[in-house]
Amino acid sequence: MSRLSNKVCLITGAAQGIGLATAETFAREGATVVVADLKPEAVDAAVRRCQALGAQAEGHALDVTERTQVDGVVAKVLARHGRIDVLVNNAGITQDARLQKMTIEQFDRVIDVNLRGVFHCAQAVADAMVRQGHGVILNASSVVGLYGNYGQTNYAASKFGVIGFTKTWARELGPKGIRVNAVAPGFIETPILATIPDKVLDELRQRVPLHRLGRPEEIASVYAFLASDDASYVNGAVIEVSGGMSV
Ligand code: NAD
Repeated sequence: MSRLSNKVCLITGAAQGIGLATAETFAREGATVVVADLKPEAVDAAVRRCQALGAQAEGHALDVTERTQVDGVVAKVLARHGRIDVLVNNAGITQDARLQKMTIEQFDRVIDVNLRGVFHCAQAVADAMVRQGHGVILNASSVVGLYGNYGQTNYAASKFGVIGFTKTWARELGPKGIRVNAVAPGFIETPILATIPDKVLDELRQRVPLHRLGRPEEIASVYAFLASDDASYVNGAVIEVSGGMSV
């Protein structure tokens, strides 16, 4: 199955977790994978994993909060490939604290990466996608962006915000042939859960009708569907992938 053959796909935060699983899934689907993440060594390792799957892949060290870096990466990809077919805005962080304890620095950093970073990347690719007359932008929201969560004022605001971006860009860019969708994962086994105590993770497992957390590949496969022409009529959607934890 090669649903993403010859599609140039830029994935942020692709050095580990859901981003890495998405890069590998896209590689298996025939994509040309562009890995972007903070640390050059981790980016190189992810690129090698995609190449080992037979894909064309390249990497760029990128901090999505730095607009000049984002523009630089997009310019390089366009210079080499002439187009960007898919952007997966996956990079995201948590810095949790209750409302009364949250510092301004914690608030600002999470908004900066999860919201401003997504805005930077989408704005940087939009002109090229409009010129091409096609494109797909996929944004990482969260069940926390649908329902809120204890200790996550900053993260919840950012992930609600990502849904606002998604619906707005679906309206603005849909007429230009560009689809924009969001995925709202439940709790997925990646390093981002490292700060959650085991007891809380056990409670979360019990809340999910499937009685387990999700695997990164189970989010990656939804991104692959949304990136592909199989999802040609899916636009402005927020797809919850949580094992049914909200039902
Ligand atoms: P992770 O921490 O395992 O990986 C995130 C990646 O993003 C890392 O490689 C990190 O280096 C990169 N990154 C962080 N800040 C960056 C920046 N400024 N510029 C570029 N890259 C940066 O996280 P994950 O669990 O794989 O989550 C991926 C996305 O999915 C995030 O947006 C997260 O909020 C969202 N999400 C995760 C879960 C979950 O349970 N794991 C649930 C819902 C949503």
